[in-house]
This record gives sequence, structure tokens and C-alpha cells, in this order.
Amino acid sequence: MTRPFSRRDFLAASGVAGLGTFLNGCATTLVAADASVDDKPAILGGKAMTMGGVPSWPVLQGEEEKLLLEVLNSKNWCCWTMKFKVAEFEKKYAEMNGAKHCIATNGGTSALINTLAALEVGPGDEVITSPFTFVATINSILSHYALPTVADVDIESAQIDPAKADAACTENTAVLMPVHIGGLPADMDGFMELGKKRKLPVVEDACQAHLGKWRDKYLGSIGTAGCFSFQVTKNLACGDGGAVLTSDDALADKIYACHNNGRGRTVSSFMQNAVRGRNNRMIEFAGAILLAQMAGIEKYAEIREENGLYLNKLLSEIPGVVPAKRYAGVTQSAWHLYMFRIEKEKFGLDRDTFIKALSAEKIPGGVGYSAVDWTEYTKKIYSTRAAGRLYSKKFLDDWAERVGDLPKYKRLASEAVWFGQNLLVGPKKNMDIIADAIRRIQKNAAQIKG
Ligand SMILES: *Cc1c(COP(=O)(O)O)cnc(C)c1O
Repeated sequence: MTRPFSRRDFLAASGVAGLGTFLNGCATTLVAADASVDDKPAILGGKAMTMGGVPSWPVLQGEEEKLLLEVLNSKNWCCWTMKFKVAEFEKKYAEMNGAKHCIATNGGTSALINTLAALEVGPGDEVITSPFTFVATINSILSHYALPTVADVDIESAQIDPAKADAACTENTAVLMPVHIGGLPADMDGFMELGKKRKLPVVEDACQAHLGKWRDKYLGSIGTAGCFSFQVTKNLACGDGGAVLTSDDALADKIYACHNNGRGRTVSSFMQNAVRGRNNRMIEFAGAILLAQMAGIEKYAEIREENGLYLNKLLSEIPGVVPAKRYAGVTQSAWHLYMFRIEKEKFGLDRDTFIKALSAEKIPGGVGYSAVDWTEYTKKIYSTRAAGRLYSKKFLDDWAERVGDLPKYKRLASEAVWFGQNLLVGPKKNMDIIADAIRRIQKNAAQIKG
């Protein structure tokens, strides 16, 4: 069954004014699904689905070249003049997110590292975070020779569970580090309450969470500090870059110093107010790209929100497909990933077989983070001579035993499926195509299995 799909249909289906403009220049083949839900799934020999209009990421916004050349010709390639592109970006990014300060860095990992440095995290300290995260979250803690204590997730949302984080606290806990994985907000009411109760700073790993919102606040501006990544796949991208947001004046100065070789903004001598620092400054070329890219960030966030919620509605009607839950406090997801689970009893197939059937439909889904034993990982990292002076084998074994098994995380890792954020930036029609594909896979599960 083939239907012609006109540009007007496409714009109507997308439901977003101005979408046609930004998609100009992207590879767009505007073809409707030419295989319907009643047809055979592609894995059983049916015709694969055809999606169109998914932009390859990142999408140029128009000013990149001009701003890059301004930096090039100025010879102000380093941000230390504090009044060029990086400074302008910091001001804009802080304003957009409702934070008082923004410190741009050369990556999300270094944003996290310098925030933990400013909070004086070191050997013996525990930082409580999510196991269902990118390895950089864990590595930022390990880089201070501290202990990444992972607490189990709420399987419905894929986010770290504040009650489990509370139970994991000890007298050595120094920081709570919720991760908004996939750009879906963690329970920030729960974490802010926990921080208050335990008198602990809350550092949001918002590296996937640009413009996600909890009640009336943007993610990354709620806790003591929030860290972002602008690595090329992220919702706001410059190649490699990052930023910390905070509204705490003293902490902002300290983070600045930590990322600037220990030197503060106004310090002339390196001995004055020295902190243990490193150079993780953002270069001006990255600042230029970010300023240009910011032209699109709000528009894309709206499109993802609309398409993401629509896909949630379509997929939740299919037996055994469970879109990641949004808490009552969520007013906007950042949708860096579109996350859902396949419950094999109800769906009729396990997640890995489902992914095979989905890829036969030419729909690019991934299996999410696998179940890493982070305590084993930590023990391995700390098997060096220097770490041996800090932590005995018995100490690490006892710590790992206390962290325990994390059954929900394990189950989540075996059921999780996700789509990249650029899929949600395509036309709304694609959401129908994705749902049709998954529906016909589910309907024919027995045959696919057999
Ligand atoms: C991308 C990411 C990071 C690290 O950011 P980089 O810019 O790649 O250093 C940290 N945490 C999470 C959850 C991420 O997705």
C-alpha cells in the first residue's frame, strides 16, 4: 500500500509551524509508511517501514560560519579575555535556564569533575548516583578518588530513586548526584528534600537534560549546581563542551578557579586563594558554535515534547510496551533519548529479539545501557599502587557489599530500548510509523519467536 505524501501533508502532520524551514537542507525523503500495521513484519519477509525527514544531527542554524570566522580573525582563541563568545554564551545560557552563574567548560565530564572539586570531594567521600547512566558520571567521581555509591532506580522512570539514595547515605556521603537520564527528569522534589534532610549538596548531572523542566524550573538550575554536556550528539552541541550552572556566588567562583588552573577571575597571583585546579576552559571556537546553535534549542525542545508525548500515547496502547514514566512534577522532558521497556511476558518477545525485528523495519532503536557492576568497575580502577594506599581490599569489598545487588537496575537494563533525540525532531507522521511497526511486531510475536 503506497500513498503519496505531499509537503503540505507533512507540515500538517508535523503540527509545528515553521518546521519546514528548519528541515530545509536536511536529507528529507517525504514518504508515508508504505507498509501498514496489518502487513507482515519485515523480519517475517514483509516490506520495511519508511521514515522520512529525520535530520542528521547537529543541524546548522546559519550563523556558525560567521561567528567562527570572527573568532579566527580576532586571534582571541582562548576565553581568558572573559568578554568574547564564551562569556556571551555563559550569560545567555545562565539567563535561559534561570541560573545566576554559568561556567563553560571543555566537556560535560569536566563540568562534573570541577563541580565535585569545588565541593572538595576527595578520597573516602561517597557520591550517591544512578547506576543507569553514562560511564562519565561514574568517572567524574573516580577522578577524585572518591566512591561512586550507586542506588537502585525506579524502573518506571529509569531514574535514580530518592528513597534508595536515602538508604545508601552514610556519614561519608558528600554529594547527591541525580542523573536526568535520557533527559527525563529525576524526582527533584525527592532529591531536594533529601539534600535538606541530610545537609548534602545536590549536583544534577543534566548532561542529557537541556531545557527539561521540573515544575517551573529548568533542570540543572534546581540543585546546588547542574552540569551540562555539549558533546556533538547532545541536544545542544559544539563538538565537545560543557557548562556548570549554579546560583551560589561562592561556589561559582570556586568552580571557575578549579577549571582555570586554580586561579579565580580577579586573582593576579596564583598563590592567592589557590585551589587544586586544572585547565578545563572552553575554547572560543566552541563558544561561537554554541551561540549559533542556541537559535534552534527552544524550537527543537518544543517539537520533541510534542512528538515524545504523542509517541508515549501511541506506544502505551501496545501490550508489553511501557514508555518511561514522567513524574507529576515534570512539565517538560528534554528527550535526549526516547526511552521505553519491553516486558517480554506481555509483549511476547524478549527485548533483544524485539530489537532485531525493529531493525528489520529500518527503525533505529538501541538497547540502552547494559547492566554494569559499578562496584566491580571501581575495584578494578582502584587496583593501582596509589589507590591501594587509600583503600584496602577489605574496605572496598565491604563497601561493594553494602551497595548490594540493584535488582531493578538489572531488570531495566534487560528491558530498555531507546531512540535518539533526532528521531523526535522529525515529522509527527514518523511517530505513527514507529507505533505501526511496533504494533505489527507485537501482533506477530508468536510467529517471530517460532
Ligand atoms: C554525555 C554525558 C556526560 C559527559 O559529557 P561529555 O561532554 O561527553 O564529557 C556525563 N553524563 C551523562 C549522563 C552524559 O550523557
